[in-house]
Amino acid sequence: MQNSFYKEIITDHNLHPIHKHEIDGSTIELEGINPSCGDDIILKLRLENGKIVDGGYVGDGCAISQASADMMLDLVIGKTEEEALRLADIFLRMIKGNASLAEIDELEEASALSDISHMPARVKCAVLGWHTLEEILKK
Ligand code: ZN
Repeated sequence: MQNSFYKEIITDHNLHPIHKHEIDGSTIELEGINPSCGDDIILKLRLENGKIVDGGYVGDGCAISQASADMMLDLVIGKTEEEALRLADIFLRMIKGNASLAEIDELEEASALSDISHMPARVKCAVLGWHTLEEILKK
């Protein structure tokens, strides 16, 4: 069950990405690269008064990297920078197996990627968007 839910979500976000597009008036952009797989995304955000009012990404990569970035944007658009950083921290800890169930719950759809912690080869794909988000917001 868990596994098919995971596959369904990954497939759905690849076939019908919600945020894979340019955005109007982005205020900050950063490229994230995962050379071990060939994932390459450019994350774009529009920040207003400490809040992420819009976001998108362009680029290419494997299904996991693209689905993870798409779900991440779905979660953080409308949040403050602080909240987005907190969620990124939870996601990165979830992938290492260090987040509580209550925290994982806060990640909504992105919680489907928790099983990646058992697939070391895919970890860098799953965290690419989230690492890029952390970097962009800490600048
Ligand atoms: Zn990848």
